[in-house]
Amino acid sequence: QADAAMDAAKESGRNSYRFYTEELAHQSITQSRVENELRRALGQGELSLAYQPIIEIHSGKVLCAEALIRWENGRVSPDVFVPIAEISGLVGRMTDWVLDEICREQRRWRQLGIPLIPISINVSPVQFKLRGFVDDIERRLREKQFTAEALQIELTETAVMDNVDHSIHIIKRLRGLGIKIALDDFGKGYSSLSYLSRLPIDKIKIDKEFILGFDQSATNRAITDAVIALGTALQLEVVAEGIESREALDYVREQGCRQAQGFYLCKPVPGKTFAALFGDGTASSVVLYPEDRMKR
Ligand code: C2E
Ligand code: MG
Ligand code: MG
Ligand code: MG
Repeated sequence: QADAAMDAAKESGRNSYRFYTEELAHQSITQSRVENELRRALGQGELSLAYQPIIEIHSGKVLCAEALIRWENGRVSPDVFVPIAEISGLVGRMTDWVLDEICREQRRWRQLGIPLIPISINVSPVQFKLRGFVDDIERRLREKQFTAEALQIELTETAVMDNVDHSIHIIKRLRGLGIKIALDDFGKGYSSLSYLSRLPIDKIKIDKEFILGFDQSATNRAITDAVIALGTALQLEVVAEGIESREALDYVREQGCRQAQGFYLCKPVPGKTFAALFGDGTASSVVLYPEDRMKR
């Protein structure tokens, strides 16, 4: 039965998410099945990364590439297997693999003559809290002779707010290495706004749920507007995630947001495709705002 669930999940693709989590709730056996397959996949190099650009709205400049992990060519969503990697203790190995892979990707891009585009990785809350996390990152940067400006780290709001003082300590150390830190999925958690001002972070990423629903919900718009205003007031970079349409891009831009990420700009793509599309450092393939460019 667990095998059937796994197969069904793979077959029905990304829509399997809900079905699959329900399954997981009822069948811990499915979890161990996924866990075993994931362990094997890690060992055999069956994971891959997709890259999605984060774009400066007024200039079209590609500021960063977010690395998003893929398994079975995306047939099983990271929203499903990352939590399983976390509870089964595989997440450390997973992040090690991600770090190695982005180093390789950066090297490939450099060989193609592409000017440095930083890559941001997602770090799981579980791992962020582990002792030795910063030492690990530092050691890997050194081993791979990887410059810290080439790496950025995204932490979820919930992970950071869980223990603010400890988080501040860790974030300070990471930034001391020269790594930029983003607070991901912002708005989804429960952060106290006064804590936000204490966090030594570089940017916040507005959770995509608010942007996806911007045209249907005044509440989502209110939250989006407030987060952009707050981030700007605190002199943080603000990224709007989940930009699926020109209307959404227009909207966040009008609210004063300067950075965007989403399917309208580009879906997550393999590193090779990313290099081909954005190797010149701009999203010239997407129509942005020529009038803004002229004003500057
Ligand atoms: P996230 O870090 O918030 O990543 C953004 C997610 O939004 C990605 O989903 C991306 O494909 C999706 N997305 C981007 N633009 C749009 C859009 O316009 N519309 C919609 N509907 N979605 C968009 P993905 O790749 O499925 O990843 C889901 C989550 O899994 C990530 O959310 C992140 O929390 C986690 N994740 C992904 N890769 C890794 C990883 O290497 N390590 C860890 N620990 N977590 C990861
Ligand atoms: Mg992220
Ligand atoms: Mg996010
Ligand atoms: Mg997310």
